[in-house]
Amino acid sequence: MRISQPKITQKEQEIIYSVEVNYSQGNTVLYYSLDAEYADLVSSRSDAALVALLILAMIHGEDIYISGTISERLYYNLSGSYQKIIKNILPYLQLVNIHADDIQPASGNPSGVATGFSAGVDSYCVLADHYYKKDVAPGFGITHLLYNNVGSHGSGGEGLFKQRYEILKAFVSEKIGLPFIAINSNLNLLYEKVTFQHTHTPRNISVALLLQNGIKNYIYGSAYTYQDVFIGAKKDGYGIDMAYSDLVTLPLLSTKTLNAFSAGSEYSRVDKILKVSQVEDSYKTLDVCVNNNVTENCSTCYKCMRTLLTLEIAGAINLYKDAFNLEVYYQQRDNYIAKHIINTKNPLNQEVVRFAQDKNFEFPIITKPVSLKNQVSHKIKSILKKIK
Ligand SMILES: [Zn+2]
Repeated sequence: MRISQPKITQKEQEIIYSVEVNYSQGNTVLYYSLDAEYADLVSSRSDAALVALLILAMIHGEDIYISGTISERLYYNLSGSYQKIIKNILPYLQLVNIHADDIQPASGNPSGVATGFSAGVDSYCVLADHYYKKDVAPGFGITHLLYNNVGSHGSGGEGLFKQRYEILKAFVSEKIGLPFIAINSNLNLLYEKVTFQHTHTPRNISVALLLQNGIKNYIYGSAYTYQDVFIGAKKDGYGIDMAYSDLVTLPLLSTKTLNAFSAGSEYSRVDKILKVSQVEDSYKTLDVCVNNNVTENCSTCYKCMRTLLTLEIAGAINLYKDAFNLEVYYQQRDNYIAKHIINTKNPLNQEVVRFAQDKNFEFPIITKPVSLKNQVSHKIKSILKKIK
């Protein structure tokens, strides 16, 4: 894989960073674009392109020849331990060599502190600790919020990215008052069939590296607790979420001047929801839904349901009446509890059960026989399967 020197151009109000990519699948261009107002943040180094494209080169087992300047520390880590770690997570990857034209220590003295903002529980939790809280440690108070199009919008793509950004932008400028930067990219289109969930860390960190001229701390909201840190494949049985390894990999994706790190692993999922429920700004805008093609919470998917049940147990559900359709939630709730909460093996759902016990919250009686019925029918099915 050959990656050209980055080109930075301006087209009307947009600043565009692009590299040409030549590899076994053909010639293409990787680009990022953002409002020219933030041109000062954009680094002309090749770091962003290398982090973004490394996995693609590893999928095809192609050595990388990259023009432009790579930061010294990043080059060292990407050439060595980082590849070995992600190969453990995604075993189909192949180790590759990286040949860089120019390797220099990162320089400059950036002062910004950025985090991605999706209005989800993890991002509000980061804001609770690094923005809303009094006495944030000097140098760690958030100065910029980022909104990336690197794959999280699923099949909705660029259209949904823009739609969601516009909705959030009005709220961020009115309520939060921090610069809210939309970074568009075609990166997701290059990743072929490799899902976002399995590769979100390097995709998002490539954006932080793009902005390393002005950003010194990039805070990545954690998805899991310290006890869950895991390097390997398929721990949760639902696929391989790259977030399990963030605490280990983010320092390897940093440079001398850009410190990328994970925050929030001291909290369980229930702790985080309780923390966020103290942030008034979240009441109308909290967005937890897994349904990629909607701009509002569906109030029926497993994430909407789990969040709402936790809020209900905490006695805080009515605060969120504008962000969710509570009527729809209450219609589904008993069935959800019976199927997914009582006798659950899912660690996040088990947390909700413990929280209910702590709060002396009684699950509705109706959920228990249904649950029993589900178990019995499951048992019968598995016996029948064995007989077959
Ligand atoms: Zn939903």
